[in-house]
Amino acid sequence: MKQRLTYESAHTLLAGDPEELRAQAHAKRCEYLPGEKATYIIMRIVSYTNICVADCSYCAFYRKPSDPEGYVLSNEAIFKKIDDLLEVGGSLVAMEGGFHPKLKIDHYENLFQAVRERYGNKIEIYGPTIVEVIFIARSSRISLEEALLRLQKAGLHWIPGGGAEILTDPWRQKLSPRKYSVQEYLEGMELAQKLGFGTTATMVIGFGESWEDRIEHLEHVRQLQDKTGGFRSFLLWTYQSDNTALGGKRISNDEYLKALALSRLYLDNIPVIRASFLTQGKEGPLALKWGASDFDIALEDQVTQLAGGPLEANVKSVLEWVKKAEIEPLQRQPFFHPLQALV
Ligand code: SF4
Repeated sequence: MKQRLTYESAHTLLAGDPEELRAQAHAKRCEYLPGEKATYIIMRIVSYTNICVADCSYCAFYRKPSDPEGYVLSNEAIFKKIDDLLEVGGSLVAMEGGFHPKLKIDHYENLFQAVRERYGNKIEIYGPTIVEVIFIARSSRISLEEALLRLQKAGLHWIPGGGAEILTDPWRQKLSPRKYSVQEYLEGMELAQKLGFGTTATMVIGFGESWEDRIEHLEHVRQLQDKTGGFRSFLLWTYQSDNTALGGKRISNDEYLKALALSRLYLDNIPVIRASFLTQGKEGPLALKWGASDFDIALEDQVTQLAGGPLEANVKSVLEWVKKAEIEPLQRQPFFHPLQALV
């Protein structure tokens, strides 16, 4: 059996020839999806509220509860966005917002029930993230398990891994001290997996973290996956720095590609590694030769757009980029069953 990457062998690989790293990662991803092909889904990130009390220093999206620019979307506004998504062949609506102190569990139950009543299984609801659900549970004074079960009953099948950023406690303290510890994050994910939710893992890089920090993050994800097998995919994206308190600069696409290849090789127990076109824009398709086998085409994502992200919402244009990179794009079917794999 091939040896798994360790901290030491990961560093050796990173210090070596980048083309060798790329080739190994591409070969690994071809074990899961052979040939020069990649799957994609058309989706929309609907930010149901921008009001948030978490105060993450890297976030350009949130507004404090007293801010006149704060909003909570009505069901009608959300339906309009879903209608537009269905119109272009989309099938996934990510519901991700902030830590709104006044929205309790019943708000989310009513919303998801309303979406299910109107759309049935034509659309899959993806999110809120586990950190949002932890917040909802605590502010509703119920256990996380009760919150997850109630949301599941209301029609939610997926808990995405957003809110992980960099899974080391010093970085969490620095970037978002109110967003729970590494242990709380991992325990929350494990519970969601145990209750039958489909879950995904993410990592955001570019805050100034070291390769050690990134590998520590991958190690946490790999260990939990060894234990539960519950992650369907892993998405790597980059910090977008415009209009944020943290500031800084975006990392290069070359660094993103190296981190992506390393993720593909390190996470030998996760079938799908997803490229982030939301943050890498036209350079996104390159990632499909550096270990990724899947990408999203998003009609909207306020979180990255407000921080200067290069969102391209035109489905045809994005598919052209991919074809130009000599990758055949294959649209994923909507996944109706909660335990259906991403590809
Ligand atoms: S990243 Fe999310 S939790 Fe953090 S401030 Fe922004 S909206 Fe709030």
